[in-house]
Amino acid sequence: MQDELFQFAEESANTAIVKPELQVLKLLIVDDDQDVHNVSELLLRDLEFDGYRLQMLHAYNSQEAFAILQQDEEIAIILLDVVMESDDAGLKLVKRIRDTLNRRKVRIILRTGQPGYAPELETIVNYDINDYKTKTELTRERLFTCLMAAARSYLQLAQLERLAFDDHLTGLHNRNGLLNAMAIAAAGGKIHTLQLIDLDHFSVLNDTFGNELADQYLQQVAQRLLQVPSLVTVARLAADKFALLSEAPVSLSEQLLRQQLSQRAIELAGVKQEVSCCLGIATTHADISPSETLSHAYMALKKAKQTGIGQTVVFNEAMIEALRQRVDLLSSLNKGLEHDQLYVVYQPQFDLNTGQIVGVEALARWVDETGRHVSPAIFIELAEQAGLIHRLGLLVLQKALRDCAPICQALPDFRLAVNVSSVQFKHPDFLDLVLHTIAESGVPAQQIEIELTESAAMDFSAETEQKLAALRAAGITLAIDDFGTGFSSLAYLEQLQANCLKIDRSFTNKLTESESGLRIVQTILALGQRLKMRVLAEGIEYQSQLNELKAMGCDEGQGYLLAKPMPLSALLQFPALQQRLSPT
Ligand code: C2E
Ligand code: MG
Ligand code: MG
Repeated sequence: MQDELFQFAEESANTAIVKPELQVLKLLIVDDDQDVHNVSELLLRDLEFDGYRLQMLHAYNSQEAFAILQQDEEIAIILLDVVMESDDAGLKLVKRIRDTLNRRKVRIILRTGQPGYAPELETIVNYDINDYKTKTELTRERLFTCLMAAARSYLQLAQLERLAFDDHLTGLHNRNGLLNAMAIAAAGGKIHTLQLIDLDHFSVLNDTFGNELADQYLQQVAQRLLQVPSLVTVARLAADKFALLSEAPVSLSEQLLRQQLSQRAIELAGVKQEVSCCLGIATTHADISPSETLSHAYMALKKAKQTGIGQTVVFNEAMIEALRQRVDLLSSLNKGLEHDQLYVVYQPQFDLNTGQIVGVEALARWVDETGRHVSPAIFIELAEQAGLIHRLGLLVLQKALRDCAPICQALPDFRLAVNVSSVQFKHPDFLDLVLHTIAESGVPAQQIEIELTESAAMDFSAETEQKLAALRAAGITLAIDDFGTGFSSLAYLEQLQANCLKIDRSFTNKLTESESGLRIVQTILALGQRLKMRVLAEGIEYQSQLNELKAMGCDEGQGYLLAKPMPLSALLQFPALQQRLSPT
């Protein structure tokens, strides 16, 4: 950096065509003695070095100096008199510059008339003082070298700061820069609004147009954000995530931002792209840290994204409570897994023609350490998000295999259905571990059915196809769970070669209630017939539903009317199973 500056100066001297415009470094002179100001001005007015010249600002006491510093963030060097209105006025000012104003970059040279008033070494070290000189020591040459060393040190720090605090693609702040700017803004005592912006469809845009054009898109978005009224600062936090700190109140901030972003489409390779985004909004407070405010905005943004594209959510305290509960629940789920608090219940599945039990679906249950039953709808999702589902899923499989091995042995056509979450299915070790666990149990793979939700089975990736083919090859059958709630493509469904379609219970529910409910079930049945798959209706609660399903030719059924999920002990006593195990 220093070398670069020197080279620049030399080159311009050699070529000597046009003297390049000198850049300005601001020097603040703080002294209660008017003569010092006059002399400094005279000495330093024409000083040039490394392509820079000095611009001088003057203050005559520490109050004045503080006010100037507060206004002007670009002051590079301070020549500071120690003894002014009090013996240590200068030292006190140093502390306020570093601590209150949080200004780390500015270089400080202390001057004193009386050698006896030297600050302790501790102050020099703790408050990053560049130099300490008595006024008599500071001859013209000494002053120059002192200033130049300080200037270079300032420029280096500025460069480091750019690296540490700025985003190189857009020139905006990065996360550190944002937090820093928020801390400075907070010192002013005002309340600000922080908006986190997540661009919709950016990854699609990146895939379609390539990195270079996508980068241009981001740069244009950055330019627009810089134009938002009441802006304090803008940062880019991740690929397509920006943050905007503004003085506008929450109620107004969204409108100002969206107006600016969507005024007109951004053109990429001649194609117009509407700019749409999700927003998470939080406000700063005197008693919470910038990073906390940022995490609030993240919470709100996450909610917004879960709701859909183009959404806005403003943070509220209830979200913290929800998060705290989630964290608590997660830690107790972790303990639950360790202390074997999870168990499995079994819900019988029936052949609707013969009324015989043909298998069971294994369903996970968890009673936490306080004795509370937590719904699988809650803890399965939590386990998925927290990366515990792989472990949990295997545990359920192991327990179910152990529990049902005797039944499977006695009834070779008895089926054990196990749910597999899409997150678990995508785990790289899924296949090996599942096949290994089944082999170890001694239960023939032909008797195992894996229930995958429609969306998991339909992700169209080569990896999914390979895994499904491997399961098929091992003899494991596949059921598409909650069928009708996803977006199946008929062609892919055919290719998938699943064995069973499970009609989601929301359709079974509507079966006898509405024409449309009836038609959906009819369609799924026709589809199953065409693709030679079994169709199993979930959630049968009423006799009328059962009658209708039978009449329509639905193969199998499951639901509270027929049997509720039950622990192993109850399953072994369950009459329909008893009857098959020891027919009379
Ligand atoms: P699912 O696989 O669709 O399971 C069927 C759910 O419907 C079960 O809820 C079952 O108790 C419930 N159910 C059965 N018959 C009726 C009925 O007649 N009426 C009503 N209203 N509900 C009925 P559960 O046990 O609460 O499980 C909810 C979901 O949690 C399951 O939906 C499944 O997606 C997930 N899940 C449960 N255990 C596991 C597991 O071991 N692994 C994974 N990955 N997911 C699991
Ligand atoms: Mg299921
Ligand atoms: Mg289901």
